[in-house]
Amino acid sequence: MESETRPNLLGLSRANLRTLFTELGEKPFRAEQILKWIHQRGVLDLDAMTDISKVLRERLRESTVISLPRVVQDFPSEDGSRKWIIEVASGSRVEMVFIPEAGRGTLCVSSQAGCSLDCSFCATGKQGFNSNLTSAEIIGQLWWANKELGGFSGTATDSGGTRVSNVVMMGMGEPLLNFDNVMEAIDLMMDDCAYGLSKRKVTISTSGVVPAIERLKDFTDASLAISLHAPNDELRSKIMPINRRYPIAQLLAAVRTYMESLPDRRVPVIEYTLIKGVNDHRQHARELAELLRDFPCKINLIPFNPFALSDYRRPSASAISNFRQILQQAGYTVTVRTTRADDIGAACGQLVGEVADLTRRHDRHIRKTAEKAGKVFDTTDNLAVAADRLE
Ligand code: SF4
Repeated sequence: MESETRPNLLGLSRANLRTLFTELGEKPFRAEQILKWIHQRGVLDLDAMTDISKVLRERLRESTVISLPRVVQDFPSEDGSRKWIIEVASGSRVEMVFIPEAGRGTLCVSSQAGCSLDCSFCATGKQGFNSNLTSAEIIGQLWWANKELGGFSGTATDSGGTRVSNVVMMGMGEPLLNFDNVMEAIDLMMDDCAYGLSKRKVTISTSGVVPAIERLKDFTDASLAISLHAPNDELRSKIMPINRRYPIAQLLAAVRTYMESLPDRRVPVIEYTLIKGVNDHRQHARELAELLRDFPCKINLIPFNPFALSDYRRPSASAISNFRQILQQAGYTVTVRTTRADDIGAACGQLVGEVADLTRRHDRHIRKTAEKAGKVFDTTDNLAVAADRLE
């Protein structure tokens, strides 16, 4: 099958659309018209774009496409959350999740099919890595959620909890390892001619790709969340291999510089997944409080959500409460993330999709788990089936 080489209008930022129209010998303001049709009115059919001349529509049809990633499954959760699975060009399937809350609706968006970083507490990491999503595949998630939730008929920010008012780049993948496509999609999320979300309502969550954080201020002023998950380098390197490359001090320095570059007074969110017996001791909380002294931030505690192929467990309610209390007593603003949508496998850290794994990591994890359980599988066994049997 020949792959599509024509630009996909769905994923082009205003600047790139203006360049495209200039190259076509058209007025650059056509960019704003197209943005509004696609991202505010939810129209993907060129023929319905009535303020674009017939001749130009024909030229656009020949030289571009408007192509949405295919949504293959829709899982409504009992708690009102929804998970959609989309198929991307590489053939892999990735997940996005909508979480309605009082006064706001948050869409958790994926940036990669799988992930190369292999954090030990993350289901996506165990899938291995397949591909970066294109900007159209990233913004297409917001487009789809808006369509399903009725967001195109009103304003995108008028949520009341039933539409998308906030986006977090916290789904599958490390967003800053797909820098250009994520920046283009974020640009669209925040563009007044597209979704018009404020910089406070679009959050990039990163595990700490320091060189990319250092570049960030030249591309966006979106909010930042840091997946820290440990209060010292020794432990963090064990559970997050990226820390061996970019240790905590470097990470916090890069984040501080980015936050200081913003014109308003915003602080990053420190994400800390609490894993029983690994990083949830009182001593870890004290160490974290000490580490973040003089580092303005909010802390979000995420009790670990169990998934297949992980031995980790969720801490007890009292361990979570003690951890929180120590941080609060040290003066931090602390939230504990309520588990949402775990009946559809969409709670934090549970997203897996169906990744054609180029890194073979998924196979290795399943073999390792099988060995640990003292089970031997024929090599011709379907490994995914084998994993299910271990449950
Ligand atoms: S936590 Fe994020 S960076 Fe780490 S493996 Fe999962 S998706 Fe990748």
